[in-house]
Amino acid sequence: MENGKCNGGSTVKLPEIKFTKLFINGQFIDAASGKTFETIDPRNGEVIAQIAEGDKEDVDLAVKAARHAFDHGPWPRMTGFERGRLMNKFADLIEQNVEELAKLDAVDGGKLFQWGKLADIPATANNFRYNAGAADKIHGETLKMTRQSLFGYTLKEPVGVVGHIIPWNFPSIMFATKVAPSMAAGCTMVVKPAEQTSLSALFYAHLAKEAGIPDGVLNIVPGFGSTAGAAIASHMDIDKVSFTGSTDVGRKIMQAAAASNLKKVSLELGGKSPLLIFNDADIDKAAELALLGCFYNKGEICVASSRVFVQEGIYDKVVEKLVEKAKNRTVGDPFDSTSEQGPQVDKRQFEKILSYIEHGKNEGATLLTGGKAIGDKGYFIEPTIFTDVTEDMKIYQDEIFGPVMSLKKFKTVEEGIKWANNTKYGLAAGIVSQDIDLINTVSRSIKAGIVWVNCYFGFDLDCPYGGYKMSGNCRESGLDALDNFLQTKSVVMPLHNSPW
Ligand code: NAD
Repeated sequence: MENGKCNGGSTVKLPEIKFTKLFINGQFIDAASGKTFETIDPRNGEVIAQIAEGDKEDVDLAVKAARHAFDHGPWPRMTGFERGRLMNKFADLIEQNVEELAKLDAVDGGKLFQWGKLADIPATANNFRYNAGAADKIHGETLKMTRQSLFGYTLKEPVGVVGHIIPWNFPSIMFATKVAPSMAAGCTMVVKPAEQTSLSALFYAHLAKEAGIPDGVLNIVPGFGSTAGAAIASHMDIDKVSFTGSTDVGRKIMQAAAASNLKKVSLELGGKSPLLIFNDADIDKAAELALLGCFYNKGEICVASSRVFVQEGIYDKVVEKLVEKAKNRTVGDPFDSTSEQGPQVDKRQFEKILSYIEHGKNEGATLLTGGKAIGDKGYFIEPTIFTDVTEDMKIYQDEIFGPVMSLKKFKTVEEGIKWANNTKYGLAAGIVSQDIDLINTVSRSIKAGIVWVNCYFGFDLDCPYGGYKMSGNCRESGLDALDNFLQTKSVVMPLHNSPW
C-alpha cells in the first residue's frame, strides 16, 4: 500500500444482535408499518441486521408514552436523589456490558473496538454518573427583588417531553450527552438514533429497563431523518428538540419547530476547526496533535482539526513529520488492536469524502499524501493531506467529515487568527505554543466554543462545549447541559401582607 499501512484483520468474536425493534413504553415492538431497514458493517458492506423502521405513527405512539410518563408517571415527581440512584444503576449496567457495547459500535459504525472499550463506553457510563450526581442539586434562587413589598423565588422545572435526534459518529457518547442531563432534569423522551448506528441505542434501552428507569421515560424510535426525525421536529406534543448533526439538517429542525408548536430547540452542528501551530512549538508534538485532531475516529468528528495552520518558521519541518506519520498510520479492521483508523461509516459517506478529495485536486491544491480508497471491500480511506489550499476552495470551507486535512502556512499571528476565523463554523480550535501571552491573545480572538491549548480533544464531563456561529446554539456537557432541559418558573407573593 502506498500511503497508510493496512493490517491483517481480526478474529474478535462479533456481538450477537439482540435488540432490533422500537422501544416504546418499556417494550420492544415492531414498527406500525411492519417495515424494517438494513444496518450494515462498514468493514465489508454486508448486512448485520434488520432494524424496525419507525415513522410518524411510531413517533406518535412514543410521544404518547413519554407524555403519560411526564404528566402522570413517577419520574418527574420523584426526588432528584432517587432519579440519581436509578441513573447510577443504569451506569453500573453499562459498565458491566462494556465489551458488548463497544463491539456494537465497532461493527455498526466502524469505530475502533479498543477505543470504544477504553474511552466511549466508559465515558457514556460516567456521563450518567455525573448527571446522577447533579440530579439532586437542581434548584432555583431566592430573589432580592427591587420592590420591598414583594418576595420572589424561582423554581427549575423539567421542560417536559424531549425529542433527541442524534448522529452516527459517536453513537454511545451522543446518546449519553443527550439522555443523561435530560433524565437528571426529570424529562421524559423519544430518542431517534442515526439510521446507520441504531444498535447500541436499543441495547441502552434494554439496560435502562433493567436498571428500573420507569416505562415511558426513555423511548427509542430508529428510522430515517426525513420520516421519523422530521416527525419529532414537527410534533405538536414535544416540548423540546435537542439535535446533533449537520448544519443543513439543524436549519430544517429549527424551521419545523417554528412551523409547529414553537418547541424549544438546541442544536449542536458541524465544524471546520482550526489548529494553529506557532514557531515556538515542539515539532514532534505539534505533528502528533495535528494528526490526532484531524484523523481521530477516521475524521468523523465534529471538532476535527481539519484546517491546520503552521507558522512559516517551522512549516517545512512540521509538514515533513506530519506526512511521515500519516503514511505510517495503520488503517484496518476496527477490531484489530493494531488499527489506528477504521472504515468510514457507510458507502454514502465514503463516496462523499472521495469526491471532496477529487475537488481538492481539481481546485489546484497539492496532495501531499493519501487521496485514495484502500482495498476493494469496505469503506477505508487513506489519511489524506493537502497543502497549497486557498480560502475559496471547497475543501477549506466545507465540513468533509473524513480523514482529509488542509494545511496552510501563515506569517503573522494576525494572519493566523484571520484565517482560522474565516469559516461559517465555530465549534473548536487548537493552539500549539509555549508563549502564554500569545496563547491568551489567540484563545480570546478565536470564535469557537472550546479552545484546546497544547492538547486536542481535551473533553471532560465537567467542561461545556458547543458552537459559535453556524455550529450551534447551545452548550452540552458540564452543568450547563442541564439548562437545555430545564425551565425557570418565578413565584412571587406580597411580603407581610403589604400592598403590592
Ligand atoms: P445528519 O444531520 O445527516 O443527521 C443527524 C441526525 O438527523 C440523524 O439521526 C438523521 O437521521 C437525522 N435527520 C436527517 N434529516 C432529518 C430531518 N429532515 N429532520 C429530522 N431529522 C433528520 O448528520 P450526520 O451525517 O448523522 O452527522 C454528521 C454531522 O453531525 C456533522 O455535521 C457533524 O459535525 C455533526 N456533529 C456535531 C456534533 C456537535 O457536538 N456539534 C457532534 C457530532 C456530530
